[in-house]
Amino acid sequence: MDWDLGTEIVALRAEFRKLPVHARVVAAADRFNEVQRSLDQRFALVRMTRARRVELVKERDWILAEAKGYRRGVALVGAGSAIRLQRHVDERAASAALVAAEIEEVDRKIESIEVDILSLQTEMVEILQRSIADSEAKIRRVARARRQRLSLKLGDAGRNAMWSPVAVMGYRAWKWSEDGFHGVRQPWLHPRLAAACSEGGGLPHTDGRCAEVAYGCGIYAAKSLDVLMEEVRGFSDSRVAVGLVGLEGKVVEHERGYRSEIATVLALAVVDWRSLYLMEGPDRLAALFSPPVKLWRLGTAPLPLPRTADKAWLTVSTFLEEQTRRNQTWTSANPSE
Ligand SMILES: [Zn+2]
Repeated sequence: MDWDLGTEIVALRAEFRKLPVHARVVAAADRFNEVQRSLDQRFALVRMTRARRVELVKERDWILAEAKGYRRGVALVGAGSAIRLQRHVDERAASAALVAAEIEEVDRKIESIEVDILSLQTEMVEILQRSIADSEAKIRRVARARRQRLSLKLGDAGRNAMWSPVAVMGYRAWKWSEDGFHGVRQPWLHPRLAAACSEGGGLPHTDGRCAEVAYGCGIYAAKSLDVLMEEVRGFSDSRVAVGLVGLEGKVVEHERGYRSEIATVLALAVVDWRSLYLMEGPDRLAALFSPPVKLWRLGTAPLPLPRTADKAWLTVSTFLEEQTRRNQTWTSANPSE
C-alpha cells in the first residue's frame, strides 16, 4: 500500500542505530516522541476500524442471503403467504442499505486515518533523516578536533577516575603570543585552570556526553615527556611552550595521558624564535601567564635554543624531568578546592 512509509522508517531507524551511541543526536527529540505516540494510536485505531469493516461486510452478506431466500419463497408459495414473505424481503433490503451506509462511513474513517498516518510518517522520516545528518556532522566534528595540532592523542580511558590526594604530574604544550598562552581549546590567563563543560556535573565527564570535542572535557596532559614529544614534533613553531602541570580534583586516566578537573603549571620551557626561557616558581609563572606576555621583563635569562631538534628537546626534557622530581610533593595552594 502506498499510503504507508513504514518500510522507509524501519530502514532509517536501522541506519541511525548503526551510528556510535555517543555520536547519536535525535533532532527535535520531543516532537519525535510525540509523533511516535500519535502513530501508535493511529495504527491501533486503523486496525480496530478495519476489523469493524470485516464484521459489517459479513453482516451485510448474511442479510442479503436471507433476502434471497425469502424472494425465492415469494415465487414458490401462494398469494396469501407471498405478502408476508415480501415484507421480510423489504425489511432485509432496508437493513442491507443501512449496513452498506455504515460500511461507507467506516471506509471514509479508514481513509482519513491513513491520511493522518502518512502525514505523521512523513514527519518521522524527516526527523530521522535530520537526526542521521546531525549525528554524521557530529562524527566529522570529532574527527576534525582529533586532527588538531598540539591536541593530545590520549588513547582509551581507564575504567575509573581517580581522586589522588597528591597532585598527578603531567605535561602539556601551548602556543603563545603577546596576547597570552593558548591551549587547543582555550586561552590560559593564569597558570591554574579549571575545566569547563557545557554539560553539568562531575567534570571531567567519562560517559561520553561531551566526547564531541576529542575525548571529552577536562584539562588534557600527557603522561610522559615521550608522549608529549610525539605530539609537539620539535620546536618548528617559533612560539611554543611545553611544561609540567600538577593535576588535581577528578583526574581521568587514559592510556597516554590524563583529563583533569584542575591543572596548575609548575614549570615551563618557553621557545621564542631562537631563544629558550626555562621558567619556574609560582610568582614568575603567574606574571608570565598574564598578558601582555613580555618574557624579557621576568628576570629569567634566555638560553640559545639548540640548533637541532634533538638537542633542543634534550635541554627541555632534562629541565622538566628535574622539575618533576622537585615537585613530587607539590600540593595545591588552594587545598579547599
Ligand atoms: Zn564534559
